[in-house]
Amino acid sequence: MIELSRRNLLAGAAAATALSSLSSNGSVLAAAPPAAKQANGFYRYKLGAFEVTVVTDGARVGPLADNFVRNAKKDDVNAALQAGFQNKDELTIPFNPNVINTGSKLVAIDTGLGLGVFAQSKGKMGQYQSNLAASGIDAKAIDVVIISHFHGDHINGLLTADNKPAFPNAEIMVPAPEWAYWMDDGTMSRAAAGLQGNFKNVRRVFGALGNKVTKYDDNKELAPGIVSLFTPGHTPGHSSHVVTSGSSSVLLQADVTNIPSLFVRNPGWHAVFDMDGPMAEATRRKLYDRLAADRMLMGGYHYPFPAMAHIEKDGTGYRPVPIAWNPTL
Ligand SMILES: [Zn+2]
Repeated sequence: MIELSRRNLLAGAAAATALSSLSSNGSVLAAAPPAAKQANGFYRYKLGAFEVTVVTDGARVGPLADNFVRNAKKDDVNAALQAGFQNKDELTIPFNPNVINTGSKLVAIDTGLGLGVFAQSKGKMGQYQSNLAASGIDAKAIDVVIISHFHGDHINGLLTADNKPAFPNAEIMVPAPEWAYWMDDGTMSRAAAGLQGNFKNVRRVFGALGNKVTKYDDNKELAPGIVSLFTPGHTPGHSSHVVTSGSSSVLLQADVTNIPSLFVRNPGWHAVFDMDGPMAEATRRKLYDRLAADRMLMGGYHYPFPAMAHIEKDGTGYRPVPIAWNPTL
């Protein structure tokens, strides 16, 4: 049996370093230039007869705000981050929209932060359009865009950097209660100052599309095999989606939780983005109990790419078990 002590590993590493600059005949090899760039981020899988592509929009990395979890102490939030092997005082929030080819329709669910952010963030965010193209999908070929809710990280990608429709041939479908809330002038005038920016952004994005949308209700088939499942609390009209083909299905939860290391492990925590914390928590617990009981595959918009997992109950919370990479379809 090989014994792997720290000393053996270090000795091995030193020997490897010494050897790596020499080729078999003893001549010195040229150093390969580093790629300095991540590979395109898309992950494809079969769901029954459907083909689903998770197309990442990148991730936002920033300092952990003191109030990021409204009802938990920053020390406890940091402890949860470190338990998830993430850096203390730092928050990484990924963005992962989906595209579903049902065989008859090409359907996008949510759109990322938009190409404007791609330049601003030096390519860290707003990657959706370039990753979509790299996955072989033409934005012009998308028939339907289904929106889960009206936060900027889900709707801003509806527009190009110069405010033109990013999906010029698509019908845009939105949850009816979400539209009713954000487009109502009275609601806007009574809303807290902190929400005004979001009201304005919603009107900016949909205004540029001529406010041409199809509003949808709960438990409706929006495209073949894609059914709305209203999951309110994060926003008033927040919707998840259940995609089914044959005996296979996946539940795309949008923002029922933000990052799993915090909010799946601690479903009682209320993220600053949850507009109605107690309602979001009740929705989260109900949905996650179902995911665990049914052993159902799920996709989480803010999960680490490729943002798919199964859910187990664990103590007072839940444990996500990320899917394994499948090298074939
Ligand atoms: Zn979001």
